[in-house]
Amino acid sequence: MPELPEVEVTRRGISKVLLNARIKKVVHDDKKLREPYSPMMNQLEGSFVKAVNRRAKYIIVYTDKGSLIIHLGMSGHLHISEDEKLALHDHFELVLDNGKNVILNDTRRFGLVLYIPKDQDPLLDQHLVNLGPEPFSDDFSAEYLKDKLSHKKKTVKQALMEAEIVVGIGNIYASEILFACKILPTRLANTITLEECSNLVKETRRILHESICSGGTTIRDFEGADGEKGYFVQNLFVYGHRGEPCKICKTPIELVTLGQRSTYYCPKCQK
Ligand SMILES: [Zn+2]
Repeated sequence: MPELPEVEVTRRGISKVLLNARIKKVVHDDKKLREPYSPMMNQLEGSFVKAVNRRAKYIIVYTDKGSLIIHLGMSGHLHISEDEKLALHDHFELVLDNGKNVILNDTRRFGLVLYIPKDQDPLLDQHLVNLGPEPFSDDFSAEYLKDKLSHKKKTVKQALMEAEIVVGIGNIYASEILFACKILPTRLANTITLEECSNLVKETRRILHESICSGGTTIRDFEGADGEKGYFVQNLFVYGHRGEPCKICKTPIELVTLGQRSTYYCPKCQK
């Protein structure tokens, strides 16, 4: 599943062709994604793309005639093509006046494409309005995180993955961030100290930033809009490394299931 860094890499990729382009045509097939397409979607034809932003794992395309919210779901990816023709599992396409086309390919069709009319703010859409702060924003501070975690009666790893606390920490990055902070993923959220929260904020930003810079993490089939694979997988310390020696202390990495998600950790480095 694409996580925040992969979505940000995708956003940067499609921005190159979308920004300042005019949308000539909006094309989609008749198979629905997670939700049906709005019949108003064709309002975007002839529109001018003003900005391509991201909120959590949603890409928002702002035009002068309304906006689009795109979510990649479990298996979706956006790519740029010079060929308008749709291939297998291509479901949605923006045909641009600069000869490029932005295409959503999604084998499992859990993705989402929503049209938001011109007079509405996409950030207030029901999918986005209750999301917690962005990890790179000032709102995500040690004090904020301490307050949120102190009310949680679950493990710190599960709490960090809650979008209501902070967006963008998915399963892979949660294991990596906790390893970097030397915190056991099984610890209860309300035992995490302010100093540890300060570390968590710092390491979350560092790890997500490094992943974005290396093109995201290619697990299964993620690729950026230009077809480039992500290389962050080479920088993973614990995720996917069960039984292998810890890169710091050589103790074998262990695997535990928390909230039905695989969680990797070093039993010696993490307390
Ligand atoms: Zn270790």
